[in-house]
This record gives sequence, structure tokens and C-alpha cells, in this order.
Amino acid sequence: MSSPQITLLAENEEYEFYRVGSFSDENINYGVDIDKVERTCFCDCPHFINRLQTEKWGGARIDDSEHHCKHIREVLYGNY
Ligand SMILES: [Zn+2]
Repeated sequence: MSSPQITLLAENEEYEFYRVGSFSDENINYGVDIDKVERTCFCDCPHFINRLQTEKWGGARIDDSEHHCKHIREVLYGNY
């Protein structure tokens, strides 16, 4: 399966926001947030929102790869 398109939409010293294409439908995109200060990440795909989030305010730890969806993995590691 080919890798989805990743676009960096916004970035500053504390934060990065990406748009990542769905693996299964090229018409769908998800938003991936990386909080470089809190060391957390977030994706708005249903799998992440419903099953993978661990943090009280949403998201998962950047160093907790067990709880990363494939979109977050694509952003952080370039593959999943
Ligand atoms: Zn996701």
C-alpha cells in the first residue's frame, strides 16, 4: 500500500499541525497535531479518537507508540 500524502499546515516552536491523507480513501484527510512542549500527539481519525487516546485532555504521549494510529506514525516515523 502506498504512503498517504502528508502536508505540514502550521508549525511553531511548540506545535506542528499536519494534514494526512487516509490510507484507504484519497478523498479523506485527517488532521494530526504534535505538541512539542507537552510531548503529546493527536489525530482526528475515528480509530484514534475512539480507541487510542490515553491523555485526560485527549491525545497520546509521543513516546507511547502503542497508542499511535497509522497517521501519527506516518508523521513521526515516515511509515507505519
Ligand atoms: Zn489517525
